[in-house]
Amino acid sequence: MSEQTVENAWDHAVDLLIVGSGAGAMTAALVGCDAGADVLLIEKGDQYGGSSAMSGGGLWIPCNSVAREAGFEDDPEEAWKYLKGCVGDATPDARLRAYLANAPKMLDYLVANTRTRFIPLMEYADYYPNVEGSTPGGRCLDPVNFDARALGDEFLKMRESAPQQQIMGRISMTIPEARISLARTPGWMLTLMRLFFRYAFDLPWRFKSKRDRNLAMGNSLVGMLRRSLMDRNIPIWLETPARGLIVEDGRVVGVEAERNDKRIRIRGKKAVILAAGGFEANQAMREKYLPQPSKAEWSSANPNNTGDIINMGIELGAGIGLMDEAWWGPAVKFPGDDRARFFVIELSLPGSVLVNRSGRRYVNEASPYGDKVAAMYAKNTPEGETIPSYLVFDANFRKKYPVGPLLPGAQQPDWAAPKDVMNLIVKANSIRELAEKLGVDADGLEDTIAKMNEYAKTGVDPEFGRGDTIFDRYYGDTHVTPNPNLGPIDKPPFYGMRTYPGELGTKGGLLVDERSRVLDESGEPIPGLYATGNCTASVMGHTYPGPGATLGPATTFGFVAARDALGIDSDTGS
Ligand SMILES: Cc1cc2nc3c(=O)[nH]c(=O)nc-3n(C[C@H](O)[C@H](O)[C@H](O)COP(=O)(O)OP(=O)(O)OC[C@H]3O[C@@H](n4cnc5c(N)ncnc54)[C@H](O)[C@@H]3O)c2cc1C
Repeated sequence: MSEQTVENAWDHAVDLLIVGSGAGAMTAALVGCDAGADVLLIEKGDQYGGSSAMSGGGLWIPCNSVAREAGFEDDPEEAWKYLKGCVGDATPDARLRAYLANAPKMLDYLVANTRTRFIPLMEYADYYPNVEGSTPGGRCLDPVNFDARALGDEFLKMRESAPQQQIMGRISMTIPEARISLARTPGWMLTLMRLFFRYAFDLPWRFKSKRDRNLAMGNSLVGMLRRSLMDRNIPIWLETPARGLIVEDGRVVGVEAERNDKRIRIRGKKAVILAAGGFEANQAMREKYLPQPSKAEWSSANPNNTGDIINMGIELGAGIGLMDEAWWGPAVKFPGDDRARFFVIELSLPGSVLVNRSGRRYVNEASPYGDKVAAMYAKNTPEGETIPSYLVFDANFRKKYPVGPLLPGAQQPDWAAPKDVMNLIVKANSIRELAEKLGVDADGLEDTIAKMNEYAKTGVDPEFGRGDTIFDRYYGDTHVTPNPNLGPIDKPPFYGMRTYPGELGTKGGLLVDERSRVLDESGEPIPGLYATGNCTASVMGHTYPGPGATLGPATTFGFVAARDALGIDSDTGS
């Protein structure tokens, strides 16, 4: 076939064709464009941004310059010890080294060349403080607020934030603002009022949409990235799902996609970069690969992530890994929400407890989210079923703290809470009655609560060490002593809620190397094909080392992929 005929066989051709529109995809697109490439992103959904837009937007980047400028000096050797100590041999060292070498460069590129801006979270600790090389903060970056007006009509085409990231599912807040409100540090009321007034008096926009134009967290990150794409006229074709990979002479040269009800062929002259998320919303894949039981409705992630790209890769002969893994966390799907809410704070705040069907604890409730679900699966035996588990708290807890979509009872008493949400929460005047209503062993639950009340007095949890680490305490209540994660559960009425093994996304997928090249089953790179994010087997292996440890790699390996595809040397960190 002549070159001319081949060109004619394509409906569209670009240098870099990127599948997906999350933070990894957008980072790759920006890098590619700035290196002179013609770039196109294709997105399956009618909105761009995927789980990245729904997320907290944090990026975990050891040795980053933003924290350095704020006075925190990280040490590359310590970062290596920590990452290796967490991940172990689940990921080749070359990829771990590549992550540590490229993540700070990716960040510097973004900050120097695009609209993205971040602040370092100096008190947000690595998740495993006992692993050598951990830091008490400074490795997680939070996107600053971004004004959605800069996006014009593109704003409403961005996937909405997950409701759990917003006050009343509507009002944006940054991670520090969320913490100020939770910990009720001086000025917390003022912070909340400022956010509320800014939202309410954004006129006349308020009459047009419920969405907050003061973007924070994942919406801010994706908003800043989208605006940066707009600055460069980089298009995102919405409602254009990839349906197949096109191979010529052993090289991936393009993608077959669907657009306006037609099959089209799009060529990626230099490369195709896959950034199409995991398989969270694909029940059949969940049953095939994840530990059981596992339900798509327990996921907090983007509903369009159905593992299409992973399956296309498998068909092509790509290797896969970590398919039984996810960014786990206990979760509940509440009425009115289309995705499950991932419990970040409810289990760390003092005065709550998580029990199995025997009414017994089985894990440190304030430990990193992944550890809780790992324990849920490991300890789910007929004698002590942990799926579902039961989150139990009392009237004081209900009054002081938010639970799922409920504001603290002081602001939203039970009578003012949505009925369908309250129907999900079992309420009783005694622990025994609560246990009976939940179907939990009453003696077991009474014994557990008596122990928790004792631990609240001493401040020591001799069973599971709740509150022992700086990470546990990050989401504790600093007003509560002697342990900010332990409080009595003694004031009726008592509340209980079924809780499930949820996730923020799956993290198994195509095997890639330190240059983000997709590997075949024998470990050889498939020419022309790169991947990043949750459609790959995560660099983080079986662990979740710190806040932002999913978006950090998605953006970093998007950066690496675009550079490598365009012949710019990757830093392998070795
Ligand atoms: C509530 C919540 C909070 C979170 N907070 C954080 C946090 O603070 N820090 C952190 O690191 N991680 C966080 N995460 C996890 C993080 O958001 C994800 O791990 C990350 O966004 C995954 O990025 P991705 O590019 O792989 O997927 P996505 O961002 O989901 O992007 C994939 C895109 O590909 C599209 N797509 C799927 N199939 C196709 C197809 N066939 N053709 C074309 N497009 C397709 C999807 O529609 C989607 O838009 C959070 C997640 C949630 C849900």
